[in-house]
Amino acid sequence: MFKKALFRKQQLKFMFFNLIAFTVILTIFGIIIIGQVQRTLFSKSDEELLSFKEMMTEHPSRGFESPLPDDKMDRLPPREERQREHPNPRIIVLKWNKNGEIINQNEIGSSFYESFIKGAQLDKTNLNIITNTTINNLYHFRYLLFETADSEGEIIYTQLLINTDAEQTIIDNFEWLIIVCSIIFIILSISASYILSRKMMKPIIHSWNKQAEFVENASHELRTPLTIIQNKLELLLTEPHEKIMNKFENIALSLSETRRLSKLTSDLLTLARADSAETQLTKQILDVDSFIQKVCAPYIEIAESQDKHFWLNLNCKVSIEADEVRLHQLLVILLDNALKYTSDDDSIGVKTYAEEHKVVLEVSDTGIGIKEENMKYIFDRFYREDKARSRETGGMGLGLSIAQWIAAKHNGTITVFQNNHKGTTFKVKLPK
Ligand code: ADP
Repeated sequence: MFKKALFRKQQLKFMFFNLIAFTVILTIFGIIIIGQVQRTLFSKSDEELLSFKEMMTEHPSRGFESPLPDDKMDRLPPREERQREHPNPRIIVLKWNKNGEIINQNEIGSSFYESFIKGAQLDKTNLNIITNTTINNLYHFRYLLFETADSEGEIIYTQLLINTDAEQTIIDNFEWLIIVCSIIFIILSISASYILSRKMMKPIIHSWNKQAEFVENASHELRTPLTIIQNKLELLLTEPHEKIMNKFENIALSLSETRRLSKLTSDLLTLARADSAETQLTKQILDVDSFIQKVCAPYIEIAESQDKHFWLNLNCKVSIEADEVRLHQLLVILLDNALKYTSDDDSIGVKTYAEEHKVVLEVSDTGIGIKEENMKYIFDRFYREDKARSRETGGMGLGLSIAQWIAAKHNGTITVFQNNHKGTTFKVKLPK
């Protein structure tokens, strides 16, 4: 219950962060697009204001109404030049004296002056900077204010205004479009965030469950031998005068459980290190066949002592780069299992051969075999096909997990299949 609430909380957190990320990205995107559109739309008006200013400062005597000489009309000079000669009629010119009064009312036209300009004040904050303004809270203009001198040398301020209502309408509509689209995308991103956060949580939940299962199994496996050792020692303490010889069985059992405990803790440590990717391989060049021969030598003797037949078929004849200690550990796990799960007169064999890019090591036995339906579980930690039997043989279900990790660490694989209807074959493939 607690676990579910924790996962839910984490998922909501992921969802929230995803949502924030989507919103921030969309907002930045919107701001950039609107800014760009604004800049593009106003650039034409700004260009015209600047060329008008240039015309006024270069030919101060010429006004807005100055005609273009006829001879120039025939030759049609470049557009920029023509614009300078014949400025845009949309531009309104206001001239202010130092006291902030408009001095060219007659040029503007009295009705225009009365309706729009009359109450206007001279604002020198944005001198020489093209700025936006609205007249009567209704009409949008861009203007450029600059200082000049009149014919008597008196300082006057010239304000060039250009109406930008059309541009502003496009920008307003565009802003609306962007806002509406952003809202729609943010709503859509809520569901996208939900799906993404669920996907993100899946591997976390999976490894959390695996970890919890691992800890539970490990504690269980540790507790059993500890309980046995404790019981046996307590039993010995009840009869302190007894001879060791008479209590031999109890002592031997305690000792074997201690060995089991020691093997279990070292396996657990190997897997814990494997999980934290702490263990690094020390690779060296190994001649596969002679290495296998060396590892198998003691097993040939053990098999003989147990009336089992051990055969070797070594045909690899190549060397590989591998960690000798880890590869030895992998083979020992497979050979130990082969011995554990076979009876008298069974046979155990190791075969090596090379494929195109791989070296193959096969460990086969004619023992009890593994049921087809259980094969997919045998590399899982603590999995044992027959728990009661494994306890007898000392198995804890960690060996094959370690073998799989070693194979993977060498960029190889380990697979299992039935050995000709009796027993098992493990196939390890390692890169050449
Ligand atoms: P264990 O220490 O129990 O042998 P492993 O991880 O090595 O743990 O093996 C997991 C299980 O796979 C074993 O409990 C056993 O059921 C099965 N198994 C492994 N090797 C063999 C084999 N050669 N023959 C039959 N069963 C095997």
